[in-house]
Amino acid sequence: CGIVGYIGKADAPSVLINGLKRLEYRGYDSAGLAILDHDQVRVAKSPGKVMNLKEKTRHDWTPELCRQSAIGIAHTRWATHGPPTEVNAHPHLDQSGDIALVHNGIIENYRALRSRLEGKGHHFYSETDTEVLVHLIGDCDKGDLFQAICDALHQVEGTFGIAVLSAREPDRIITARRGSPIVIGVGDGETIIASDAAAIVAHTQRVIYLDDNDIAIVTGESVEIRDLNNVPVTREIAELSLDA
Ligand code: GLU
Repeated sequence: CGIVGYIGKADAPSVLINGLKRLEYRGYDSAGLAILDHDQVRVAKSPGKVMNLKEKTRHDWTPELCRQSAIGIAHTRWATHGPPTEVNAHPHLDQSGDIALVHNGIIENYRALRSRLEGKGHHFYSETDTEVLVHLIGDCDKGDLFQAICDALHQVEGTFGIAVLSAREPDRIITARRGSPIVIGVGDGETIIASDAAAIVAHTQRVIYLDDNDIAIVTGESVEIRDLNNVPVTREIAELSLDA
């Protein structure tokens, strides 16, 4: 339902939680976020309100960890596949535990993909279509996250807005869309990804809207957009006129 991603200066958890609060008006049943702690992905999830998630991160994560975390992705879920439990909340991890993904939309062919991956030894914890997508990305990852996501998205039927991070490539978030909106806020030394500009206005007025089948490599200083065949595309920077 709602996506927020952040890469930049620091304290990703508070930026992400404030962003999720801005998306609450759209409705949701659970929430979660993932950050990088050195070379490890840390995940917090909770059914119910973003407030519950905030309490959970306060309880599980030290203030030092939050202050040091300059990258993260977050989600408010509106369940389509699997009930609104903690396990089914996003982010979901791949088999290695290094790649985390949040997803809006529906992966229509997830059953076929899931049984193929189970045949290769993948183990699934949730009932979601989304967990299948991140396992597929992990399965395609031969050392280049961007290429792995392109390869995975070529195999997917359905709709998606996604944000992905990997402990093996800690300097970037990859985001893509097909049939579900993604907006990228271009700040000063920081970049915010969201499914809705409402989560961005407090940070910057300068935004880029992705088109269907666009995939972007986002760092704190740059946004590079390509199509799923790795061909660069150009998208204008627009000025938001909303009030922060
Ligand atoms: N289909 C996914 C799920 O049920 C994503 C739902 C959403 O867009 O929030 O987990």
